[in-house]
Amino acid sequence: MQLGNFIGGKFCPPHSGAYIDDLNPATEEVIVRIPDSDGQDVDDAVAAAKAAFPAWSRTPAAERSRLLLKLADLIEQNLEELAQLESRDNGKTISLARRLDIPRAVANFRFFGTAILHHGSEAHPMDGVALNYTLRQPLGVAGLISPWNLPLYLLSWKIAPAVASGNTCVAKPSELTPLTANRLAELSLEAGIPAGVINIVHGYGAKAGRALTVHDDVPVISFTGGTVTGAAVATNASPRFKKISLELGGKNPNVIFADADLDDAVATTIRSSFWNQGEICLCGSRIFVERARYDEFLERFIAATKKLKIGDPLDETSDVGALISADHLRKVTGYIELAKREGGSVVCGGNRVDRRGYFVEPAIITGLGVNCRVLQEEIFGPVVTVTPFDGEEEAIAFANSTRYGLAATVWTRDLQRAHRVAAAIDSGTVWINCWLLRDLRVPFGGMRESGVGREGGFESLEFFTETKNICVKL
Ligand code: NAD
Repeated sequence: MQLGNFIGGKFCPPHSGAYIDDLNPATEEVIVRIPDSDGQDVDDAVAAAKAAFPAWSRTPAAERSRLLLKLADLIEQNLEELAQLESRDNGKTISLARRLDIPRAVANFRFFGTAILHHGSEAHPMDGVALNYTLRQPLGVAGLISPWNLPLYLLSWKIAPAVASGNTCVAKPSELTPLTANRLAELSLEAGIPAGVINIVHGYGAKAGRALTVHDDVPVISFTGGTVTGAAVATNASPRFKKISLELGGKNPNVIFADADLDDAVATTIRSSFWNQGEICLCGSRIFVERARYDEFLERFIAATKKLKIGDPLDETSDVGALISADHLRKVTGYIELAKREGGSVVCGGNRVDRRGYFVEPAIITGLGVNCRVLQEEIFGPVVTVTPFDGEEEAIAFANSTRYGLAATVWTRDLQRAHRVAAAIDSGTVWINCWLLRDLRVPFGGMRESGVGREGGFESLEFFTETKNICVKL
């Protein structure tokens, strides 16, 4: 079976006639073939989006809202099918796809589909001399590039605000997980979203993705992916003065003080370490525990990790599914080997599972210093390090010891310390005694090499619009 690009409301084959195999990472079997799109396909999609822009940008906000809410309803009605597609395409467990990925896509369309109704402009009267007001206008064709780890969730995180605020878009989902993007295209037609408002081009990043970032008719790029790719996107898009948002990688610290509620800290750290096989940008991968409770935490954490069931992602009872690809499996197991060479001990898991598919046991590593590569580089798999610390100052220094700054978690029952430490950690998000709770109204993004710009809430609507100051003499 072959998928097409979704351009101007129709599914089209790529100009080149070339296709890419899309594999199920749990079985290594080809599920479908997707277009290996090139610049010509991107040109077609951008032309379709550009043609749809005048009418869509003039469509009243209430009507745009109605269509996006209809799309949200359709995603919800097809939740089970979408969860199955996501699980087969990505290797994630069906239970997580059902609980997290697809409901969040619904929430994204509902949130931005209603936010647009409440988003206004400001007026600044100049003491009876003049009146300034800020007009917000959509930018045109938005280029949206997303990764494979939360395919529909992150795609909808971009499409929903872009389209809600009156832009049309060309989305380039990851070549590793095209299935739910394709289904979203079908559902957008069913919802009645006009042809050309949402376009989806499949293919490799270096070809189709790059073509989007350099396209003269695409004034805005929203990218989520790795830091190295983000640098390439910035290099290509910046000389063309595009508006860019970059949501990049992380190496998130999880700081556990001795006074923490350890029952909660262990249970939550299991999720923040191994949900989605550790393939969530917000997963904590460096766990720091105050020395007085280090042994106790480690013992309980290892025991809880050993109870996780690794297996068929479509099995309701599986806790850990397959990694996304053979390449990624090599990368993850390579870091486990590197940990040993760097002098660490793998105290739990870390072996490839003896079955077809890209399965690896969740791994816990101890005995490494904060400057080792394993604690510095993003692994993006089910691999965490556990390190003791002494006192608040050292905890903050350890947490801040990488180039990244995406998310952090702090566990303590001391209210003042919780706020002090949260403020001192260089991170776009800090969770205190919890993980992954998200209010869609808050700004989201990374510091340092974890990204530039903020998305979420009205900030996303502002990102996808241009402000114009209009000054009227009174
Ligand atoms: P990736 O950077 O390899 O790919 C992301 C997307 O960019 C894909 O669609 C890919 O095809 C495309 N791409 C690749 N090269 C390109 C180029 N030269 N020009 C334009 N597009 C190009 O990332 P990935 O492996 O798909 O995802 C994992 C990474 O994403 C991890 O680093 C993870 O931390 C990060 N991530 C970050 C967030 C966040 O919100 N900060 C969320 C999820 C994932």
